[in-house]
Amino acid sequence: MTNAIDGRVASGKQVFTEGDIAAAVVRIAAAVRADYAGEELMMVGVLKGAVLFAGDLMRALGDYPLIVDFIAVNSYNTGRDGSGGQVRLLKDLDIDPAGRHILLVEDIVDEGLTLEYLLTNLRSRGPLSVRSCALLNKAYHRKNSVAADYVGLEAPDAFLVGYGLDFQERFRNIPHIRQLQPARSSVP
Ligand code: 5GP
Repeated sequence: MTNAIDGRVASGKQVFTEGDIAAAVVRIAAAVRADYAGEELMMVGVLKGAVLFAGDLMRALGDYPLIVDFIAVNSYNTGRDGSGGQVRLLKDLDIDPAGRHILLVEDIVDEGLTLEYLLTNLRSRGPLSVRSCALLNKAYHRKNSVAADYVGLEAPDAFLVGYGLDFQERFRNIPHIRQLQPARSSVP
């Protein structure tokens, strides 16, 4: 059944194809392999948005020594008016990150509040190192100085859905990334 939101997704521009995403995943996997030179990594995927990216990155890392865990957060962005946002931990790690090289895997870094919260949280637990990667980056929205160590694709200034990214919990399963057409847009 089609509703207004389905229409806005269907008419929104396709921003990144499955091929664009696959190429970005391969690039990041190659950089990670080169940088860590065989040291075991603990990949920490950030639920739910990074679930497909973490899965594909895991697969691209192939036989690399890897353990995998997930963490879940809620980001409450209180708008684009500078009034700030809050991040809350919904699900903690199952595996103790102490003494491990941590690679945090995020779907998108927007204002940077979520990444800053997670980096601070993980660094306080005695890991050997913490680095981060993000499939998508909106550098122009950043409200702090955090940056992912590995970035897949620079995102346009639009609300994106697909490949793990949702709108009201929907559309995560679209295999590419689309732009949600703004409501009451005059664009045909
Ligand atoms: P930040 O704390 O960097 O502002 O927010 C990061 C989180 O905001 C992401 O993990 C994601 O859940 C959400 N987010 C930011 N931009 C987008 C977007 O274009 N589409 C979707 N679906 N979520 C976004």
